[in-house]
Amino acid sequence: PYGIPFGFQTSSQGKQWIQLAGHQGNFQAGEAGSVLKKLDALEQECYQSLMTDSLKKFVPEYKGNVEKNGEKYIQLEDLLASFSQPCVMDVKMGVRTYLEAELDKAKKSPTLRPDMYQKMIGVDSNAPTKEEHQQKAVTKPRYMQWRDEMSSSTDLGFRVEGIKKTDGSSTKDFKKTKTRGSVVGVISSFVSNKEAIVAKYIKKLKEMMAAQETSSFFRSHEIVGSSLLFVHDAKENVGVWMIDFGKTDALPSGKTLDHRSKWQKGNREDGYLFGLDNVISIFEEVHTG
Ligand code: ATP
Ligand code: MG
Ligand code: MG
Repeated sequence: PYGIPFGFQTSSQGKQWIQLAGHQGNFQAGEAGSVLKKLDALEQECYQSLMTDSLKKFVPEYKGNVEKNGEKYIQLEDLLASFSQPCVMDVKMGVRTYLEAELDKAKKSPTLRPDMYQKMIGVDSNAPTKEEHQQKAVTKPRYMQWRDEMSSSTDLGFRVEGIKKTDGSSTKDFKKTKTRGSVVGVISSFVSNKEAIVAKYIKKLKEMMAAQETSSFFRSHEIVGSSLLFVHDAKENVGVWMIDFGKTDALPSGKTLDHRSKWQKGNREDGYLFGLDNVISIFEEVHTG
């Protein structure tokens, strides 16, 4: 499913909907102005809590659950609905994209994944170890760790997952975009050097960070694999939202994260704000040129 470049669906209003990540089957057109995402209990709980948190205005509105053809979905506000021919970018936040719980589970019962081994050698045939070559398989956290290191995630605390531009062209080919300089290039091209749009993004990102720094939800969750969705159009409408809470795990009661400290196995830090500091400073670099 990850081999499919992009999902294009026609919503009920006849507008084109763009999906930059994830399995295509996970999304369906919802009622006007909504999208349906396959229900995941963890994610639903997050959206429920977020509706009464200070982060509410930085996430799509959660409109409850619906069933369609025997499948359960959460209904979310379609963030693209108010834009015309939007440019869209999905940026996955954090220094790692697997939960500590996933790592623990994989260590206890390592399931070998031939499919992930194949994806790995598809990008770099030298990446697997001797043993992995013999098994023709890798474990899931090993694969995810490798992807984090190959991209900008480990060093910068975020990576670009996909971009769709106004002209319809789209790219998902940022797996090896690692250095700050190369990310600056990607972001410059996304905003087509439009100063007003860059300035609006910077303002919105700073507002979002201020809200995150005071949010009780943000403080009390390990947030992994979550994205920022950047959207703008030719009329200079600009928006940025937090999406994808499928791997956002509540901490034990009383425990909190600052999302900036270095991750050490057991401390559950995810590097989310470390990444957002870098995203903002890269947008500022693009702005001043
Ligand atoms: P993965 O875990 O692989 O990233 P996923 O199945 O959890 O995928 P999401 O990351 O939540 O799916 O969403 C995939 C894509 O769908 C996003 O990159 C974005 O392009 C689009 N999308 C998701 N939610 C919305 C929304 N509320 N409004 C508009 N577009 C959305
Ligand atoms: Mg995602
Ligand atoms: Mg997800």
